[in-house]
Amino acid sequence: MENILDLTKEELGEFLIKQGGKKFNAAQIFNWLYKKKAGSFEEMSNLSAGLREKLTNLLAISFLNSEKRSVSSKGDAIKFLFKLEDKKKIESVLMLQPYGNTFCVSTQVGCAYGCSMCATGKAGFKRNLEPGEITGQLLAVEKEQGVKVNNIVFMGMGEPLANYDNFKKAVLIFSDPDGININQRRQTVSTCGVVPGIDNLLKDGLRVNLSVSLHSTFDSLRDKLVPVNKKYKIAVLLKKLQEYCRVTKLHISLEYVMIAGVNDGTGEADNLIKLINKYCLDTKVNLIPVNPVDALLSSGETTIKMWQKKLENAKIVNTSRIERGADILAACGQLAGEA
Ligand code: SAH
Ligand code: SF4
Repeated sequence: MENILDLTKEELGEFLIKQGGKKFNAAQIFNWLYKKKAGSFEEMSNLSAGLREKLTNLLAISFLNSEKRSVSSKGDAIKFLFKLEDKKKIESVLMLQPYGNTFCVSTQVGCAYGCSMCATGKAGFKRNLEPGEITGQLLAVEKEQGVKVNNIVFMGMGEPLANYDNFKKAVLIFSDPDGININQRRQTVSTCGVVPGIDNLLKDGLRVNLSVSLHSTFDSLRDKLVPVNKKYKIAVLLKKLQEYCRVTKLHISLEYVMIAGVNDGTGEADNLIKLINKYCLDTKVNLIPVNPVDALLSSGETTIKMWQKKLENAKIVNTSRIERGADILAACGQLAGEA
């Protein structure tokens, strides 16, 4: 049976019309599902008894439940493990911050892109998540923890733009005022640089924040760290980002994991500044000490400070992300879905 949580409000409206219902019933049902977290059609008291019965026979309401929770030692991050219907596992992370709660969702089981520093990539690709499995992570966590999520980042397991259609539906359900009601400007998609996916965002008029995992400014090294670079070279990617900034008027972010002796030399820092200026990117640079995966070592504080100084001198906004949840393996690139 189809899961109602896989449908956008538009799709649900069309389905209801075919069943002799009304389009506005979709908004009522969205309110029941996403605001009240109703688990059955029976509870939806403002729908007619006939429609409730019909829907019960036609659609499932399949929520996720977390299997396991791990809390970081500082108590500011909670990692959730979910077992899906086919027993595959995914993870999400809730970050509790003074300025609002940020939730990091997975979009695929595993990932096909094989970036060399990433635990998810090493586990290989299993399958795409359905829209309801993406939004379901947030629903489960809001329900179980009694919290309200304010910001969503698509930075968990998987490459969101490689599961574009389901990712897009999840964005629409998240941002629907009758649904979870988190504005697209409070949603950030992180990509390793799948250029056609960025084109899709533009074509569909989505207005989500874009964060790109750059990690090197030289094709020869980026080919190794982020293999999708062999297909979409740095110049092609940056040109597309220039277009994204111009069309959406949104700031973008460049993520840069700092790996000692690999991508943290001054030549990289200088080239990064040169490229940001060349492509007129309205961007913030996030310098991320690489999280221990295999034998990779993070750049030291002195190197990161030196990069920050260079970026500041070039008037480029930058942060060095304070890692959250490293002790529970909830940090970026460490989600592997293992129990
Ligand atoms: N597939 C998307 C989103 C998920 S990965 C992407 O690649 O952007 C989320 C972020 O974690 C990316 O910026 C990725 O480069 C980063 N990451 C991967 N491995 C990491 C590691 N070992 N330490 C720190 N960040 C890592
Ligand atoms: Fe996939 Fe992102 Fe990990 Fe690369 S960094 S393997 S794209 S999840």
